[in-house]
Amino acid sequence: MFWKIIKDHKIYLQSAIISSILYFRSKRGEVMNINKSIELKILKAILWIYIILCLVIAGLNYGYANQATASVKVFITWAWHFYENWVKTFFILIGSFLTLRITSTLNIKTMRKRNLIGFIVSALIIHIIMPIFLNNSEVYFFTMPLPWTTTPLQLLHLDSSFYLSRIPIWGLAGVASALTVYVCISVIIIIGTLLVGRRWQCSTLCLFNGFASEVFEPAFPLVGKSKKIKPNTLKIFSCLRWVFLIMALFFVFYWILVLVGIPITEGIQVISKLENYKYLSTELLMAMFFWVAFIGRGYCYYCPLGTVLGWIGKAAGQKIITNNTKCIKCNKCNLACTMAIDIKDNAQNGKAVTDLRCVGCGHCVDACPTKNLSYSTKFLSRIFKKVKKLY
Ligand code: SF4
Ligand code: SF4
Ligand code: SF4
Repeated sequence: MFWKIIKDHKIYLQSAIISSILYFRSKRGEVMNINKSIELKILKAILWIYIILCLVIAGLNYGYANQATASVKVFITWAWHFYENWVKTFFILIGSFLTLRITSTLNIKTMRKRNLIGFIVSALIIHIIMPIFLNNSEVYFFTMPLPWTTTPLQLLHLDSSFYLSRIPIWGLAGVASALTVYVCISVIIIIGTLLVGRRWQCSTLCLFNGFASEVFEPAFPLVGKSKKIKPNTLKIFSCLRWVFLIMALFFVFYWILVLVGIPITEGIQVISKLENYKYLSTELLMAMFFWVAFIGRGYCYYCPLGTVLGWIGKAAGQKIITNNTKCIKCNKCNLACTMAIDIKDNAQNGKAVTDLRCVGCGHCVDACPTKNLSYSTKFLSRIFKKVKKLY
């Protein structure tokens, strides 16, 4: 009897079950969407706090501290170190977690997840472990190779204001360890880039603009709506790239000449001040506030170190491999690209993406629904072939 009723009303039962499943799925989807929008709001709030703290502490440290009393000066220095190391690392940890939840890329293979793991490890080593072991809270100054900053060169000159300001705090041993860290990290970055391309520094290690643009990516833009970068803006960025590279090289050569005893001018203090103003206005203010609030990777378009690493990446054979037979022209790669590169056009023509701007973030690779794209260098493709032979 029971089975007969079931059989007679099978079709109604089936539709009831399917409707319930769909209802619960849509409810679950709604709950997930609500959670994601809350997480996005938290991420944006963290980014605002990060930017505001950065501006306030930089203002106090580079401006007010010069006229403050000794005890206030000590407090400002402590707040600056605490913010740069502990607060920044905490923001990287929590921001990475929220970004992974928002983008739902919990699959271990996604490149975005690898980028975030890289930044977390890099922050823990540079901002927490090294300052504790070396007893130096400013060691992060020495983690960007030439030509990004001439700080290590200034530290080698006994009359430079940087050396004179640091020697009473660090002593000779502290100066030596800072320079050792600088040489080791520079070698690691250059060799890593020769092997795995610009991705190594720009999408895994960089604790300047690289980490901010990856960790807070879903929160961009903080102000206004997301807009596609116009071709004219790209032209301006291309010009800026050369202007910033020339400026950076000028400072590098100036300090090298000073160090080898051929000063091109006597005004060491003037050049130091000029470089400091350039850093505060175009690097700290523009990169940490303006670009992070509006475009994310804005500074990476003209970062002098990025340009040099782009060339090293080219020598390493860095490229995004495309497979035009699989391209369905959905444009998802172009929308995901953090550096406004036309990947779709290359994919349709079966050409690899070798643009100097490519930071190797892999967002295009993650976004492609047909798995048409992959990131590679000469070294990576050799390793991949060897692994393929083994299995
Ligand atoms: S381009 Fe410069 S700022 Fe951007 S991620 Fe690379 S090294 Fe860092
Ligand atoms: S093409 Fe764009 S999205 Fe793809 S790895 Fe390069 S910068 Fe990232
Ligand atoms: S995301 Fe993939 S399929 Fe879509 S346009 Fe780009 S390469 Fe083609």
